[in-house]
Amino acid sequence: MIEKQASKITVTKTFFPPIEEYQEQIKRIWINQWLTNRGDLVKELEDKILTYSTGVNIIAMTNGTLPIQIAVKVFGNGGEIITTPFSYVATTSSIVWENCTPVFVDIHPEYLTIDETKIEAAITPKTTAILATHVYGNPCHVDAIEKIATKHHLKVIYDAAHCFGVKYKNNSIFDYGDVSTCSFHATKIFHCGEGGAIFCKDNELFNKLFYHHNFGHNGPLSFHGIGINAKMSELQAAMGLAVLPHIEFIISERKKVVDYYNHNLNFNKLSKLKIRKGTDWNFSYYPLIFNNEEKLLKVEKVLNDSNIEPRRYFYPSLNNLPYVQYQDMPVAEKISKTVLCLPLYVGLDENQLSKITNAINETL
Ligand SMILES: *Cc1c(COP(=O)(O)O)cnc(C)c1O
Repeated sequence: MIEKQASKITVTKTFFPPIEEYQEQIKRIWINQWLTNRGDLVKELEDKILTYSTGVNIIAMTNGTLPIQIAVKVFGNGGEIITTPFSYVATTSSIVWENCTPVFVDIHPEYLTIDETKIEAAITPKTTAILATHVYGNPCHVDAIEKIATKHHLKVIYDAAHCFGVKYKNNSIFDYGDVSTCSFHATKIFHCGEGGAIFCKDNELFNKLFYHHNFGHNGPLSFHGIGINAKMSELQAAMGLAVLPHIEFIISERKKVVDYYNHNLNFNKLSKLKIRKGTDWNFSYYPLIFNNEEKLLKVEKVLNDSNIEPRRYFYPSLNNLPYVQYQDMPVAEKISKTVLCLPLYVGLDENQLSKITNAINETL
């Protein structure tokens, strides 16, 4: 019997809501005859995210990178920004884009977030802010970082791109830091195709962030100061409003996949992410850490040969980017070389999962 060719299993697959639900949102746009500049759908999406997730101020934006750039613009002042080498490139590139200097601090070997015990040694008179990533949705040590920031009068920006739905000590993770940002990109757990948001508690800061995201406008005829265009469009919000009602389902389906991996992989020769205590996690990624890069490459090849495509992120460690001053980051470099994110999305079935875990266990 000829076996039907198995379809590819990729590291992630975008969640598509039922098309009728999306069309209903799109219809509203036609009725309103309004496509952008903060229409009804963007405002409704913001309100719903606040209700679902956090009590602080929110501005929906066109992607998850502009909020980081705007926060760096506001707090960076051309100085040094302490940051993590283990994140997506947008964290570091936003610092350099705003003419600030990234100063890397190595990561914790199990939590994979910035090692808060090494932050103070990296502070200089030029330091203006800390920009840390809650990598894979795992919170940084936010309490320790807040203490350090207060003591040294630094601002804290959290790249919370992976964190939709994450709670820490029963608060939304977006409530921490002077500013938090999130991405609603198609590969993220909640998405608008492209999209993002910035979160902040302080009302005065909120006003500043708001005008920065809309060309600096103070009404149609005057300006507060410089700005950029980071506005989310109604078309993006339509997708967000169609996806959001499914978020609990998305998270619970992903939990099933994570539970399967946790129960069926042989952890004698592998390690997994350690989630910080007090966290309600969102099951956004499944990073697997190998003992060395050779083992990772071997497993990756076996999986690729069966049409399974895990992803090596985050690689390379960001201290190796060609436009930053290299600083030795032994933990982040070791982790970058040995971490592989396994397929994780709604709809992965047990057949596919057992294929993945068997291949990994047998290869090791
Ligand atoms: C996805 C991501 C971003 C960028 O978000 P976009 O919406 O793609 O611009 C920033 N930081 C991290 C850690 C990310 O994973």
